[in-house]
Amino acid sequence: MRSLVLIGHGSHLNGESAGAVYRYAELIRERGLFDEVVEGYWKEEPSLRQVLKTTASTDVTVIPMFISEGYFTETVIPREMGLGHQGPVPPEGVARVLGGKTVRYTLPYGVHSSMADVILERAREALPDLGDEGTPPTALVVLGHGTTRNENSNRVVYENAERLRHTGLFSEVEALFLDEDPKVGLWPERVRAPRVVVVPFFASEGWHTLETIPEDMGLTGAVTVFPQNPHGTQTVYYARPVGTHARIAEVILQLAEEARGTGGRGGDEDRLHAQAWAAFMTMARRGMRVGEVMITPQLGMFEVRHALDEGIPGGDLTTTVTPEGLRDHTRRDEGGHHRPVHTLRNLPRGWRAVLSETDLPRAMHALYPAIVEEGYAHQQHALRATPWATTARRQTGIYAKVQKATPEQVEHVAEDVCSGCLRTRLWASEQLPRTFFDGVPGAIPCAEACTYLVAEVREEVSGKRGSGSGH
Ligand code: SF4
Repeated sequence: MRSLVLIGHGSHLNGESAGAVYRYAELIRERGLFDEVVEGYWKEEPSLRQVLKTTASTDVTVIPMFISEGYFTETVIPREMGLGHQGPVPPEGVARVLGGKTVRYTLPYGVHSSMADVILERAREALPDLGDEGTPPTALVVLGHGTTRNENSNRVVYENAERLRHTGLFSEVEALFLDEDPKVGLWPERVRAPRVVVVPFFASEGWHTLETIPEDMGLTGAVTVFPQNPHGTQTVYYARPVGTHARIAEVILQLAEEARGTGGRGGDEDRLHAQAWAAFMTMARRGMRVGEVMITPQLGMFEVRHALDEGIPGGDLTTTVTPEGLRDHTRRDEGGHHRPVHTLRNLPRGWRAVLSETDLPRAMHALYPAIVEEGYAHQQHALRATPWATTARRQTGIYAKVQKATPEQVEHVAEDVCSGCLRTRLWASEQLPRTFFDGVPGAIPCAEACTYLVAEVREEVSGKRGSGSGH
């Protein structure tokens, strides 16, 4: 049995941020090579602290869905997942045994050697006659973000440029950057060929690929002609970012295989995880309420809906029949705002999901990530709470300043944020004698302050927290 975990950054504000990770998880799930594909996030749920608990097997491969190495892949993810590793990840990855699971943490997908092929495919999409006989000389610009803080994050752009130099398809290949020398604005002096194909080495389409790069390069669309450049007339073909190419799913699978090496048959079923879900399914078959929803068994299927929609004819609600559909219906509150913390009491109404017994666990995982595993562990007296001081001490970078928060400041923010959340703060010594496993729908433990609360405490310490602040 094998589990694959894809780790994304996520966002407290932007509901689209997790979209690429969702899509790759779905593509890989369809291939059926892993028993499960689970997503985890820094700023959404399941969080990096929770995600290993949500895996069903004892053989877990963790892939950071980042385009390059850097602060998140080397510091934040290993720290938050408790991998006992900090700093550059070796090419063979990091392997640890954590809580009875063998966990293999790989380099981010963007540094895999097959990314050169993805760059080439993007270049061909932008310029289909690339490499044809009789076509004019063509230059390739591999365009990275660049940062002076971490040289590892730029190395991958240079390495790919070097690999593509050897293909013989380009008269010249340049690595240029947005935020670092050599800067992309210098391209007319550096690049001589009459045709130039520019491939952004970026994870997703966004502000940089849609605005900053075109602005810095003077591009007006997918094809731009520059009649008076220092080396004569040049035509620039602007490709789409590499990170959104469907081939990334292949890169992820290759990385996962390489991480496994000769890892044998895989792991076993995780015992606590299996017990938690068996207990949950027993209750679901009888009909139950959990959080803000009710689950009703119907002819071998399960209907999930908002408990306040009880009694409304099914035809008056929007029906979905997949876990992904349920996830998408509940990603935003009724005002259309992103819900980074799923247990906040703002679940929208007006939908119902009709699901098979196989799909119900995945749907519940999308609706309320990690509550079954943590709720069951708490009921079994096996959930360990992490006090605020420990969470604060662990923070680095811009969040290190939460260490300065006074207990009164933390409590003030928690009163505001956590009062809207179903969870009970075990990390602040609140008591939760019973859980939804004992028939109390809203009784869900919170073992550790979430990153949303940490971000709000940071705003409080910075004196920037006003009504409606968020991240
Ligand atoms: Fe909910 Fe507060 Fe726990 Fe975050 S820290 S999950 S808002 S109870």
